[in-house]
Amino acid sequence: MKRLQIDINPSKRTVSFKIEKGKYSVPNVLQASIYFSLIFALIVFIFAFYLMYLYIDIYAFLFIVLPIGYVVLKKSEVYHEVPITKDDHPRLFRLLESISTETGVPIPNQVVLTPFDEISVSGFINKKLNIGLISLRILKEKEFRAILAHEFAHFYGYDTILGGFFAYLVRSIESTRNFFLRVLEHSPHFAITLYALLGAAVFWIYSGIFSAIFFLHSRQVEKRADFIARQIAGDNPFYHGLLEYSAYSIYFTQHGYRWIWELANQQQQFTNVYDSFNLHYLMKINSDELKKQILENEKRGIFDSHPPLRDRLSQIPHSDQREKGLFSDSIFRNIHKLEEEFTPILTKYVHQLFWSAIVADAQKREGRCRYCRQQFQYLNELLEHEATHSETKEE
Ligand SMILES: [Zn+2]
Ligand SMILES: [Zn+2]
Repeated sequence: MKRLQIDINPSKRTVSFKIEKGKYSVPNVLQASIYFSLIFALIVFIFAFYLMYLYIDIYAFLFIVLPIGYVVLKKSEVYHEVPITKDDHPRLFRLLESISTETGVPIPNQVVLTPFDEISVSGFINKKLNIGLISLRILKEKEFRAILAHEFAHFYGYDTILGGFFAYLVRSIESTRNFFLRVLEHSPHFAITLYALLGAAVFWIYSGIFSAIFFLHSRQVEKRADFIARQIAGDNPFYHGLLEYSAYSIYFTQHGYRWIWELANQQQQFTNVYDSFNLHYLMKINSDELKKQILENEKRGIFDSHPPLRDRLSQIPHSDQREKGLFSDSIFRNIHKLEEEFTPILTKYVHQLFWSAIVADAQKREGRCRYCRQQFQYLNELLEHEATHSETKEE
C-alpha cells in the first residue's frame, strides 16, 4: 500500500511530500512572497481602519461592525446539510478509510451531504467534508475516490484555515467597499462624500492587492492537492473525475438552475430533480462536445480559487477511456430517497436564486397564487402559500 511521507517544516515554511514516484515541494520563494503579502495586506487593512477612526469615529465603528455583522449573518443562514455516519453509509466510510490510510490524513470529524454540487473540505479543528449530491450520478466510483483524495490533501499544510480566513477577508472587503459606495450614493453632505470616496478608494486598492495574494495562494494549494490525488488514485481516474465533475457542475450552475426554474414555472413538480436533470444532461447533450466547449469557454476572474481547469487537466497523462464500474451514487445507501428529500430544498434554493424575477412576476399577477388564483397582500405569504402547493402535490 502506498503511503505518503509528509515532511512539514513550519520554520522553513515549506511542505514537502515524498512519494514513491517523486517529490513535490512548494518553492520557497513563492511561499515566502505569499506570507509577505499576507502580512502587508493585514497592515494595510489595520491602517485603513485607523485612518477612518482618526477622521470619522462613528463611521469607523460602522466599518468594523459591518463586515463582522455580514459574516455572522451569512453563518446564521439556514444551510441544508445532512450529517452522516458509518452506520448510515458503510461503503462510503470504507472508501474514506482507505483514502485516510493512504494519505495519513484522518477522516474529517464531520461528513455531511448537501443538495448542491460542491465536494469540499473546511474547518481546522472541527474538520468537515461536504459532499454535494449533484455530481454523484456522473462520477464513476474510482473517479469519485480521486476527487475525495484531492479534498483530503487539503488538510496538509493549513489549506482549510487559510482558505477560510481568505474567504472571510474577501467578503469583509467587498461588503465594506460596497458600504462606502452606498454612502457615496446617498451622501447628504460634501464632507461625507469625501470620506466615502477615500474609503471606497482604499478598499478598492486593498481588494486588488488581496485578490492577487488569494490567487497565488490558492493556485499553489490546488496544484499540490492535484498532485497528491494523482498519487493516491492514479492519473486516469483523477483526470476523468476532474473533467466529469467540473463539466457537470459548471453545466448545472450555468443551465441547470434555469432549467429547474423554468420547469417549475410551467408547474412541473419534481419527484427527484437529480434524476430528472441527469436524464436531461445525458439525453439532450452531446457530452464530449459540451466538455470541449466548457473548457474552451471557461471564464476566469482573479477571485477564482482554482487554476484554470484546462491547465490542471493538461498536466495529467491519461487515456480516452473512462474508468469501468458503477457510478458513485451506488456507494451511498438509499441515495435516491435522500435525493427526493433534497429535491424541494434544491428547488426552493432555485427560487431564491431567481428572487427578483419572482418579485416582478408576482407583481404582474397582482399577488395572486399561480395555482389557485387566491390573492395575497404580502409577497412572502404568497410564496409560502405557493410552496405548500408543491409540497402537497409531491406526496
Ligand atoms: Zn481543491
Ligand atoms: Zn394557491
